[in-house]
Amino acid sequence: MSKKHFPLTKPQLDELAKRYPTPFYLYDEKAIREHSRAVKEAFSVFSSYKEHYAVKALPNPFILKILADEGFGADCSSLPELLLADMAGMKGEDLMFSSNETPAREYRLARDLGAVINLDDFTHIEYLEKTAGIPELISCRYNPGPLKGGNAIIGKPEEAKYGFTREQILAAFPLLRDKGAKRFALHTMVASNELSADYHIETGRMLFGLTAELMARTGIRLEFVNLGGGAGIPYKPEQEPMDYTYLTRGLKKAYEELIIPAGLDPLGIRTEWARAITGPCGWLVSRAIHKKEIYRSYIGLDSCMADLMRPALYGAYHHITIPGKETAPLTKTYDVVGSLCENNDKFAIQRQLPKIETGEQGDFVVIHDAGAHGRAMGFNYNGKLRCGELLLRPDGAVIPIRRRETMEDLFATLDRAALEEFKNNKEFYIW
Ligand SMILES: *Cc1c(COP(=O)(O)O)cnc(C)c1O
Repeated sequence: MSKKHFPLTKPQLDELAKRYPTPFYLYDEKAIREHSRAVKEAFSVFSSYKEHYAVKALPNPFILKILADEGFGADCSSLPELLLADMAGMKGEDLMFSSNETPAREYRLARDLGAVINLDDFTHIEYLEKTAGIPELISCRYNPGPLKGGNAIIGKPEEAKYGFTREQILAAFPLLRDKGAKRFALHTMVASNELSADYHIETGRMLFGLTAELMARTGIRLEFVNLGGGAGIPYKPEQEPMDYTYLTRGLKKAYEELIIPAGLDPLGIRTEWARAITGPCGWLVSRAIHKKEIYRSYIGLDSCMADLMRPALYGAYHHITIPGKETAPLTKTYDVVGSLCENNDKFAIQRQLPKIETGEQGDFVVIHDAGAHGRAMGFNYNGKLRCGELLLRPDGAVIPIRRRETMEDLFATLDRAALEEFKNNKEFYIW
């Protein structure tokens, strides 16, 4: 069982909503720090460990700053993500650049920032050499294909577009050495939201085996292996959280069996977890504004899937609680829905909940585990304006860390001058 927690009481939310009307995201700094420390503590069985938080999951420099303060770096997949991490003070090799189908200018910026470039394909060796040059430290992303099973969200490695095959990895590092690289790293990312520690231990074992084989076949010694992200969280209250001590003990055992006998100790261990670090520390807070009774009972929120699309995209479960009604009996069955003109805009389907009051001052509806891959995946379809983000500081203060979007933001990419011209001159057609 995992306990679903929300850090504010109903009266505190009432006060907060006067300053910041719903919907909004709320993140809990203290919880983020606690999660970060638990991960670091578990991985301290390795002499050299670093976590690179995947920026895509919560691309806000205020949050990245907290993570930098905890000693974490970032995993970036695009030029703006590199700049967001840079804004948070993450520099040089704190940054992993794991991109795919990468444009030349992004490689050049990654090089200029001194980020660790993690190549996604064999052909990128030549592309990188021509566009940005081969750096001293280089990482390659491994796709084990049929050698490893995947999971539902990321799919089977064999069908995934990412990474090098095993044979390509064994050929890539000697080629990179010939082209001037001096320090080498191996990366993989084979699962997403995977709660089984054994699965992640197997991933480690696979990378350690390849590290030893690379040494045996080419004489190339890796500086670190990066196990990628994909550590799961218990979205459902009946699920168990992953046991980090069990995980790192299993990884350490594999390390002792494969890395130490090959004479490759010390080998750095890196991760790129995002969901497991911030996922449970963020909530989407909305208000129930409408109730509708047709063939089913619907509760309509003031947010929609433009704010949180995981339920619509993956059929993902997100737990829902009603502040002030935490212990009320679950006497109702509702579909909890947003306002998008899409029938899959449902945060919950046929969910048992307490009786919900609706209206302008209706009940708050808290959607849990939205602190990773939440607002970041939002969009503007249907002219929806994404909500803002608030940070609950350890001293209890709540500060805004991103304002909500305005219509000005939405219209900002239109060519206003051409539109004015169009309006004033009936003869003028821009198309
Ligand atoms: C998305 C992603 C991550 C983070 O995934 P989580 O499941 O949130 O831990 C890490 N690395 C890469 C390359 C990714 O694409």
